[in-house]
Amino acid sequence: MAWVAIGELKTSSWWRPGFLHLVATFVVALRILVLARHLLVGHPREELVVGDVVTAAQLEVQVARVDAGAKEHVDGSANQLARVVRLEDGGEGGEFVLRLAVQFDCQFVVYLGVERLDVVVQVVEAHARGETRASDTAFAPMRQETTTPKSLVAHLSTMTDAAPATDDIEAIRDVAPALPDDAEGVERVRRALVEWYEADHRDYPWRRTENAYEILVSEVMSQQTQLDRVVAAWEDFLERWPTAANLADADRSDVVSFWTSHSLGYNNRAKYLHEAARQVEEEYDGSFPESPDELQELMGVGPYTANAVASFAFNAGDAVVDTNVKRVLHRAFDVPDDDSAFEDVAQFLMPEGESRVWNNAVMELGGVACGKTPRCDEAGCPWRAWCHAYETGDFTAPDVPTQPTFEGSRRQMRGRVVRILGEYDELALDTLGPRVRVDYGGEHGREWLRGLVDDLADDGLVDVDEGTDDVVVRLRQ
Ligand code: SF4
Repeated sequence: MAWVAIGELKTSSWWRPGFLHLVATFVVALRILVLARHLLVGHPREELVVGDVVTAAQLEVQVARVDAGAKEHVDGSANQLARVVRLEDGGEGGEFVLRLAVQFDCQFVVYLGVERLDVVVQVVEAHARGETRASDTAFAPMRQETTTPKSLVAHLSTMTDAAPATDDIEAIRDVAPALPDDAEGVERVRRALVEWYEADHRDYPWRRTENAYEILVSEVMSQQTQLDRVVAAWEDFLERWPTAANLADADRSDVVSFWTSHSLGYNNRAKYLHEAARQVEEEYDGSFPESPDELQELMGVGPYTANAVASFAFNAGDAVVDTNVKRVLHRAFDVPDDDSAFEDVAQFLMPEGESRVWNNAVMELGGVACGKTPRCDEAGCPWRAWCHAYETGDFTAPDVPTQPTFEGSRRQMRGRVVRILGEYDELALDTLGPRVRVDYGGEHGREWLRGLVDDLADDGLVDVDEGTDDVVVRLRQ
């Protein structure tokens, strides 16, 4: 039929060269008009999307196009705001129209349209003072999606507010004395953890979803079951009941027998989960509530689970505080074994509006690096440079009342030296040092390391050569 229709069109009376010429002329004229508008006024604001990539040369064209007196450059370091260009232009009705160009790594430029001059100026000025969180990481989520001027302003406001005030830092250091004492240091602590997590983490399937139902199922299942074993059960469960509506319609006896056959612990959890799905369908019109308080209204959902779902599904949770997190905070920042102190420090450290990544990251740290027997170097813990336990060698914690064997002891350090030397033919003392301890220096500096390698030499494990330039250490063959 389509072919017949085309044939008919071609033979119809209006399909003549004169008409074609007219259409072509109109199309070309339209394109010239659009191009001219872009050249004169840039992209209309409605079209601006985060993620637009332009070259540095294009950026310069933009900069050169406006009055020199109205532009401003703020240079930052790599991976941060490399350049912020403020272009002021008289918009309709005399309002300010502002265009902010953000250049990442000297090649990734994001064009943003924003309307609130005051917010952007705050961000630019605060960044110039080194106070903002205007880092690559902070902008990363925005690259993924189209961002409207309104949501950008909201995001920038969050970033501006994120830098902790000096008074807040002083107060929190009463219960976390090992925390850095300035805003920049606190920001480094935050960024180090998020970057460590984003670089590598255990890839559980529920970490790849933002579906509240799927996350709730994973949280309920993992309350009594090891995470590695939960994966298969979670996948089976969602294959059988892919949505809350499907689960709500299921027979409770089927849900309970699934629970039993997968050895998921107390059957009551299956009943509660089933009931929670019914509540979502009947009381919330099939949409999960988003805040921790509302989520607790669901059957069987306590404060911890509610916060986890709010964080991982809606990025709207509070800082998580469980046994793992307490252990990490106690060791890293010397937080006393006191619930309200742990909650205050956890909440203080969590970057505003980033509960999804933060809670995942801090739990990963407690699970992978800072377990009962910590694996500070092996896991590349991002907090070694600040960690009180790493510095003092005291790795006790509220749930680890006695010093874990091996970790932090001189014996451990000797083992570490031998292991590192096994990877190299030989190493100068000051090259070996930072590989042994990330905080090499001071009390654990050259003199300390020299004592350690001399002991190893006495035990016949290494050779120490007093070279002309430096002391060189190698494994004894
Ligand atoms: S350095 Fe070690 S003890 Fe300190 S937070 Fe990291 S893993 Fe835990």
